[in-house]
Amino acid sequence: MVDYAGQLRASLDAIRREGRYRVFADVKRHRGQFPAADHVTPEGAKPIVVWCSNDYLGMGQHPKVIAAMHEAIDLVGAGSGGTRNISGTTHYHVELEHELADLHGKEQALLFTSAYVANDATLSTLAKLLPGCVIFSDEKNHASMIQGIRHGGSEKRIFRHNDVADLEAKLKQVPRDAPKIIAFESVYSMDGHIAPISAICDLAEKYGALTYLDEVHAVGMYGPRGGGIAERDGVMGRVDIINGTLAKGFGVMGGYIAGTRDLCDAIRSYASGFIFTTSLAPAIAAGALASIRHLKVSSLERARHQERARALKSRLMAAGLPVFQNQSHIVPVLIGDPVHCKEVTDRLLDQHGIYVQPINYPTVPRGTERIRLTPGPHHTDAQMDYLTNALAELWAACPASVGRTGKLAAE
Ligand code: PLP
Repeated sequence: MVDYAGQLRASLDAIRREGRYRVFADVKRHRGQFPAADHVTPEGAKPIVVWCSNDYLGMGQHPKVIAAMHEAIDLVGAGSGGTRNISGTTHYHVELEHELADLHGKEQALLFTSAYVANDATLSTLAKLLPGCVIFSDEKNHASMIQGIRHGGSEKRIFRHNDVADLEAKLKQVPRDAPKIIAFESVYSMDGHIAPISAICDLAEKYGALTYLDEVHAVGMYGPRGGGIAERDGVMGRVDIINGTLAKGFGVMGGYIAGTRDLCDAIRSYASGFIFTTSLAPAIAAGALASIRHLKVSSLERARHQERARALKSRLMAAGLPVFQNQSHIVPVLIGDPVHCKEVTDRLLDQHGIYVQPINYPTVPRGTERIRLTPGPHHTDAQMDYLTNALAELWAACPASVGRTGKLAAE
């Protein structure tokens, strides 16, 4: 007889031994006071400050978003009631797709239940619809793109992270008439690097490739209307397919792609991950719609977000902490060891009421374990000072080897 439970326990023991067994913190946010929250433990609820949320702009508690969600529930009820084809296309979905197409200056947009599903479904379907397709994928691409490329079963070539010369060398090796897709991200969420979108578009034009850009960590936060880095850089029109989330900068949930009418129609018609699943709840679509509309005309949140990220980086650097340099809002602090990373974050939570999740393998390569801080418009100077002092104290107590490998800083 197979020892099913024993085999599963052995797999769990293996990740425990490596120090990367994941423990989820049970958190209750306080609407109107975020990033203040409670950490719920068997001993009771303890007040904490959240420093690792991807609700980057605090839109998850914006009064317009909450009002729109309440109103939608009151008007049409809770769930959508079906797949998009079978009764699940509500007017909120239709409006939201129009709003997203407009945000990215594209003919159409298509909603999914998450950006993960959007990446997986779109890339795998495109590969199948374009026989002989070769996909060029940045080595630091998110798991959802990697999964989509695998599911598509096409040939793939991995290029060095943000390395245009390496990408060109790889493009040159493929026949000119073969269908090609270059898949990459605008803001890489774990290091905070920003892609050279314009240079990648130059290559796509030169070699006749489609561009597929994941703007998950940029939509809402960059560009005059929150269209992302491509909008900020004035190259949105040169990118063929843009992928985004409604869950991070927009503070709600769901994912999408934006592109030509034909592209969206093809994915709508062929992608299993779009067709065979219940559509987003109408209240979710209504909340996302309110959030996008607000951020299209308000740059206050974006400006404050960038200012807060700069303020935190300079405090941490002044305290001698190994902050990884980048041009984005993400603030990674390199620890370089899974056990120490977990120890530091446990102590921050237990002793200081600071909640930040340790980031370990497979999210980042082994040896580059880190704390990933996401300051938002609502974090105060006092909260930053408190965090900096607590981290500096714990850092001083870390063994000398930890975090001093220079692995990230040297990149
Ligand atoms: N793409 C990237 C680069 C991400 O980091 C993530 C999630 O963290 C996703 C896609 C998936 O987004 P969602 O949470 O909407 O599924």
